Amino acid sequence: MQALKKENLTEDGFRFSANEPEPQVGHRDVKIRVVAASICGTDQGIYQITSKPGMRDEMLLHNGGAVDRYRPIIVGHEFCGEVVEVGEDVDSELVALGDYVTSEMHISCGHCQQCRTGQRHICKNIRVKGLHLDGAFAEYVVTPAENVVNLERFGGREAIPPRLGAFLDALGNAVHTVMEGNVAGKTVAILGCGAQGLMATAVARTLGATRIYITDFSNPDGSFDKQKLGERFETARQLGADFCFDTNEEAAPGQQKELFDRAGDEHGGGIDVVLEMSGAEPAYGDAGRLVKNGGHILLLGIPARPLRSFDFGKYAVWKGVTLRGIFGRRMFETWHAMLDLLASEKTGLKAKLDKIISPETVPLSEFERGFEMVRSHEAVKLLLVPSS
Ligand SMILES: [Zn+2]
Ligand SMILES: [Zn+2]
Repeated sequence: MQALKKENLTEDGFRFSANEPEPQVGHRDVKIRVVAASICGTDQGIYQITSKPGMRDEMLLHNGGAVDRYRPIIVGHEFCGEVVEVGEDVDSELVALGDYVTSEMHISCGHCQQCRTGQRHICKNIRVKGLHLDGAFAEYVVTPAENVVNLERFGGREAIPPRLGAFLDALGNAVHTVMEGNVAGKTVAILGCGAQGLMATAVARTLGATRIYITDFSNPDGSFDKQKLGERFETARQLGADFCFDTNEEAAPGQQKELFDRAGDEHGGGIDVVLEMSGAEPAYGDAGRLVKNGGHILLLGIPARPLRSFDFGKYAVWKGVTLRGIFGRRMFETWHAMLDLLASEKTGLKAKLDKIISPETVPLSEFERGFEMVRSHEAVKLLLVPSS
């Protein structure tokens, strides 16, 4: 079968293989033919592994422990597809041949303290398919049946077309973060105007945030210049943002000051809930400055390396701020809430999300073009499809 593999952790890029052996189905597994998969920030991190030491260490944790003992894996974890084989012990109530499905790709152990107390998403022994184990940038992927999210139960392809079904995993991160922030009736600042920031904007608006601020940092030398960021901000407004700020003082003089002035004028002298979705070091300081005393900062972005500059005394202790890490999706509360939100046409969420999906899909074999479109910010969410 076709598959994209990370061959080694000392070089950037992936390798396309046209004749990878198909994965074997255990008796509690299902085999899924991938209809569409989606490129995520994590995949980009794995792609550019030489500049992501944290990602490399994470990948090695459950795979050899050192770069020379690493076993190449198939990457990719956001996808949807059709069940083509079902293990003998799988309950047909759960999933059956031909069902249109996606899967939670975080595999929890089921026996650790977290798993046994309703917190499977932070299982102590978690393994992530596409990061530690073989993933979904392939023609077929095998997952435990208990991880399958059966989209037939939520209206099937008609309600959740593959172009949306392909990134429910990522949307689930945004839904999880916004829900943990209890944003109804509150002011919200979202740091990072990438896929997560945009999705969180749409979800926060749907869930009743009062005013939504979104920020990002334009990079005139890189691929995210003022104009591209301006286009992103336009999308953010369509998705529900009230205010958009470029925090690059040189590229956008005065905007940073306006951001802090405006946020400082909110009731209570700051923002109720800050969602950090960029992983960029300066954003953590911004979060600390923006949040009001007694407010909440939710952390979804993952910094490339340990932070050197966050002032815990000033921004957490003195302000009585709650800091909260968000990992993955609650199994399966987040999935159910997300699919219910999507099922209601009244929320308008589906139509909003449609604006961030690139109209062009890229064949798996041309993955380099796809990754370049995402890296250069030409596309927010881009789908890869196995070539026919
Ligand atoms: Zn992802
Ligand atoms: Zn566990």
